[in-house]
Amino acid sequence: MAFMYLGYAGVILRLDDRAMAIDIANLLGNEEIDAFSKLDLLVFTHNHSDHYNRARARRILKTTDVHVVAQAKIAEDLKGSVPPDRLTDAQPGTSVDAGGFEVTAIEGVHPRPINIYRITRDMFSIFHGGDSGYSSVKEYPAKMAFLPTGRPSPSCSPESALRFAQDLKPSVVVAMHGSPDQLAKFKRLIEKDMPDTTIIIPERYRTVRAQI
Ligand SMILES: [Zn+2]
Repeated sequence: MAFMYLGYAGVILRLDDRAMAIDIANLLGNEEIDAFSKLDLLVFTHNHSDHYNRARARRILKTTDVHVVAQAKIAEDLKGSVPPDRLTDAQPGTSVDAGGFEVTAIEGVHPRPINIYRITRDMFSIFHGGDSGYSSVKEYPAKMAFLPTGRPSPSCSPESALRFAQDLKPSVVVAMHGSPDQLAKFKRLIEKDMPDTTIIIPERYRTVRAQI
């Protein structure tokens, strides 16, 4: 698999011939969006502006056959911009097959309603924590976890990210959504507490390839 980190909680991820994007907000320009000849799955955790941008989402919907899985408020906001069979209002505790992936929504912790997600395809599984504080995800183990460590979210911290990792037992964690200090602190916590887990602090807009 390969992924590119966009900033905040924004990630584009490619697995074999499938591509998904999560919480991309306005982190991609229109030109880059138009270059998406193929995007299978577009996922949103909640409607804060560092995670969701209506105009950019609509543009992607226009230029691709993507399937959107989103927290209820965003699903409501996009109604009418996308054929109903390509839009899922992701209720926490439920799973849906979309774009060649199985997406499970889990209720997160945040000032606004937020979904966090486990996404699987064959043997591959990722978890994406948006900018949520800790809530138990023991039932949703994942091989790779994108975990928020803090700023500008009031809900998450290096410690909450560590608790997510302890539940998920991933072989790779990717630290995101935090200040440089918070990212570094999370790295130290993982190295001390989960030495068998690889931690990546990604650079924005650089492709990372990982075997998992
Ligand atoms: Zn937020």
